[in-house]
Amino acid sequence: MLLRPTLHRGLPNANGNAPSQQSRAGVLNCELGMSKPFDIELERLTGQASYSEAFPGVDAGQRGTFFLETFGCQMNDHDSEKVAGLLLSRGYKQAETPEAASLILYNTCSIREKAAQKVFSQLGEYRERQTEGKVIGVLGCMAQQEGEDLFKRAPWVSLVCGSASYSKLPEMLAQLESGNQRVTGLDTDTDETFETEVTRRDNPWRAYLTIIEGCDKACSYCVVPFTRGPERSRASDSILREVRQLAELGYSEVQLLGQTVNSYADPTARKTRFSELLLAVADVEGIRRVRFTTSHPSDFTPDIVEAIGRELKICDHVHLPVQSGSTRVLRAMQRTYSREEYLEKIAMIRSAKRPIAITTDIIVGFPGERESEFEETLSLLDEVQYDSMFSFKYSPRPNTPSLSMSDSISEEEKGRRLAILQDKQREIQAAKNAKLVGERFEVLVSGKSRRENQWTGYTTSHRMINFASQESELLGTYVQVRVTGATPNGLVGEHVT
Ligand code: SAM
Ligand code: SF4
Repeated sequence: MLLRPTLHRGLPNANGNAPSQQSRAGVLNCELGMSKPFDIELERLTGQASYSEAFPGVDAGQRGTFFLETFGCQMNDHDSEKVAGLLLSRGYKQAETPEAASLILYNTCSIREKAAQKVFSQLGEYRERQTEGKVIGVLGCMAQQEGEDLFKRAPWVSLVCGSASYSKLPEMLAQLESGNQRVTGLDTDTDETFETEVTRRDNPWRAYLTIIEGCDKACSYCVVPFTRGPERSRASDSILREVRQLAELGYSEVQLLGQTVNSYADPTARKTRFSELLLAVADVEGIRRVRFTTSHPSDFTPDIVEAIGRELKICDHVHLPVQSGSTRVLRAMQRTYSREEYLEKIAMIRSAKRPIAITTDIIVGFPGERESEFEETLSLLDEVQYDSMFSFKYSPRPNTPSLSMSDSISEEEKGRRLAILQDKQREIQAAKNAKLVGERFEVLVSGKSRRENQWTGYTTSHRMINFASQESELLGTYVQVRVTGATPNGLVGEHVT
C-alpha cells in the first residue's frame, strides 16, 4: 500500500487533469522535509473510507506519536519515508515537532566527519527531551557505524537501528514499551531489502524507489559498505508492481535509487538487466519521467545509453561520480577504473542519440594526492564539461582502508584545492547555462515561490529553473518554459504555451 501527501485543494494531477478524489484534501505539502510541518489524511491517501479499513485492527495514534528527522542522501530520505509508513500503519501518528512527539527518531549520515559531528550535536539538543519522558532513537549510518557505543556517547538514546534492520523497528519499539531500556538492530548480513507495505512519501509527484541496497565496491575511503552492508537487489516484479501503484496514485516521476544503481542484479529468474528495468518502468502507464542515481562508471554499459537514447521518458541525465582525474589516485581509492576508462564511458554517453547531461562527485586531498594529480582532476573538468558537480574534501572515516594511509594533505590545502575546483566548475556551468538562453524545456513544477507568479521546477536533464507564470495553480503539472537568463547554478525563464 502506498501513501501520498495531501495536495492543494483543486490541484490538477501530474498530467494536468482535474484533481482526483485522492488529491482533494486540504493542505499544500510539496517538497517538504519530514521534519517540517505537514498534514496527512491516511484514509484519503490509502483510498479507503476510514483508517480502520486501511489498517484493520489498528487505531490511529494508539501507540503514540513520532517525530522523524533526516540527514543525508536521497536513500536516507527514502528510508525515512518507509520508516514513517511502517510506523503509521502500526498505529503511530506523525507529529510536526519533537515537542509534540513521544518518540523522536533521528535518521543519520556518517559519510564524512562533519556529518557525524552534526549527529552528536543534534543528539545533544535531544538530551533534555529524554527527561521529558520521550524515547530517543538513532537510525541509519551513524547507528550502524557506532552501534552500542552510541549508548555510551549519548546515554539518553534508547534505540539504535541500522538501515538493514528497519523492518524490525515495530518489534524493537514493542520491547521498549515492555520495559527494555535499550534495544539495537545492527545486522547487515541480511538478504532482505527494506520493502514496506506502506510508504509515506514526501513529494506528491516524484517518488523515490530503492532498487538496490548496500554496496560491494569497497572504495578505500567509503563507509557505505560498512554502514549499509553488502549489495542486495530488489526483485524486478516487485519494483514494477510498486511503480504501477505509484502511477495509479498520480505519481508521474519515479527515481530509482541505489548507491550503485546500475549494478542492479535482478534476483528473480527473469534476470532483468538494469537497462531493461528502466524501459519497463518507463512503459508503465502514467509514468512520464524515470530517473536513476547513483551510477558507478565500471557498470555503466552501452545498453543503458541506448535505452536513454531510445526512450524519451528515461531522463537525459547521468550522475557518474569520477572522484579524481588521476589514475594513480583512482587506484589508491580502489575505484576500479582509470582516467582513460572513465573518459571512454563519457565518450559513450556523449555518442547517445540525444544529448545527456552528466554530473559528478569529486574528492580533493585524498591521502598522497600530489599537486600534479589534483591538476589532472582540473583538466578532467575541462575535458568532460560537467553540467554540475558535488565536491568534497577528503574525510578519513572509521573502518575504511584509507584510514591507515597517512592523511598527508592539510585541511588548509584541501580547502585551497576545493576552492580552485569549484571556481573552475562555476565557470564551466556559467558558460554552459548561458548557451541555454532562448531554449524551451518541459518542466515539472515542484515549488511555488513566495514572490508572486514565480515558480520552480526541474527539466528532464535535472536543471533547476525558476520561472514566471500568470497561472494561479501549476504545482505538479508539466509546463513549457523558455529560458530567459542563466546563472552558474540555475536558469530563469518564462512559462510559454
Ligand atoms: N555510491 C556513490 C559512488 O559510487 O560514487 C557515492 C555515494 S557517497 C554517499 C556520495 C559521495 O560522497 C561520493 O561520491 C564521494 O564523492 C563522497 N564521499 C564518500 N566518502 C567520502 C570521504 N571519506 N570523504 C569525502 N567524501 C566522501
Ligand atoms: Fe562508497 Fe564506492 Fe560504494 Fe559508492 S561505490 S557507495 S563510493 S564504496
